[in-house]
Amino acid sequence: MIPYGRQDISDADIEAVIDVLKSNFLTQGPKVPEFEKALTSITGAKHALAMNSATSALHAACLALGLGKGDILWTTPVTFVASANAGLYCGAKIDFVDIDPDTYNICPKKLEKELIKAQINGTLPKILVPVHLCGQSCDMRAIRDLCMGYGVKIIEDASHAIGGSYLGGPIGNCAYSDITIFSFHPVKIITTGEGGAALTNDDQLADKMALYRGHGITRDKNMMTEPLHGPWYYQQVELGYNYRMTDIQAALGVSQIGRLSEFVSKRHQIARRYDRLLDGLPVVIPSQLDDTYSGLHLYVIRLKLDYILRSHKEVFEGLREYDIGVNVHYIPVHLQPYYAAMGFKKGDFPESEKYYSEAISLPMYSALSEKDQDKVVEVLRSLVSPK
Ligand SMILES: *Cc1c(COP(=O)(O)O)cnc(C)c1O
Repeated sequence: MIPYGRQDISDADIEAVIDVLKSNFLTQGPKVPEFEKALTSITGAKHALAMNSATSALHAACLALGLGKGDILWTTPVTFVASANAGLYCGAKIDFVDIDPDTYNICPKKLEKELIKAQINGTLPKILVPVHLCGQSCDMRAIRDLCMGYGVKIIEDASHAIGGSYLGGPIGNCAYSDITIFSFHPVKIITTGEGGAALTNDDQLADKMALYRGHGITRDKNMMTEPLHGPWYYQQVELGYNYRMTDIQAALGVSQIGRLSEFVSKRHQIARRYDRLLDGLPVVIPSQLDDTYSGLHLYVIRLKLDYILRSHKEVFEGLREYDIGVNVHYIPVHLQPYYAAMGFKKGDFPESEKYYSEAISLPMYSALSEKDQDKVVEVLRSLVSPK
């Protein structure tokens, strides 16, 4: 099986993990701060908080921004469910803004329309979660300008996008957002097994996320309600969680981050090769915007179904029959039964639904061989024969 995505683990990565296993600390040791320092140094963000997943980091970020019952969070329908679920964990309501049909990212023009409507109706969101789909940044300058005007906070879900850049700055620098989230799941660009991080330039938000990551417990005198009872003393001042990353994971992260630019440039070589090989086929290839450099987590094509004999499902199944692990990113979140039960329905976000009816993620990972890539294209070519 050629998977759609997979990790790339070197001997040095393995050594780094073994070293931790032989050390005194499997968790709460020196590797987590070392990984966090690596994250701030590649992004330029002031703070990075490593956590046990991007989902946890999204949750801690929402809590730090004060999201709660009675509040609203907006995101895109074309994302993994976690981008929206984080808001539900906090008791907030969720709504969506439809995508731009060319980039598949949240559309700033639709966002503006929805913000105007929401202000009139008194339903403005507290937080917007734009998602950099496939690794290409959203139009963050337009999104930031709009959100500032309406007092909406921004969490960038950059789970696909570490190693990319936008307007000359690294994704994760939080130049256009309050907090940025990365995921280190094995299919993503670098991995820690499971893992994620939240980055911010705001000292207070960083302190709050640290609290929510660690049971709501503090050892900082300034955050306590009374003087220390003794050197052992700590206080629980919030209801937090155990969202810590282990040192085993962080060591893998440190080692992987050293290979990040190699990984991303390899992904770009593979993408350019797909672009060439798919030329002339009835498919839409990903658009690369000026002023962005994608992390290229995914390479999504859209089938021009009007010109193709087979259906979307038949082309997908045909690829799978040849052991090509294609996937679809994503089933629009509002159509999931859990969200449909809140009142969302087919037709609510037409661009997202149209995208879903045509999209296929082709295999994309740094270690994908040219031979395997040729096989993917050859099988695809045989399946998209014209009407
Ligand atoms: C993978 C992913 C997540 C969740 O990441 P985990 O680290 O698995 O929790 C959230 N949002 C998006 C867009 C993702 O792709």
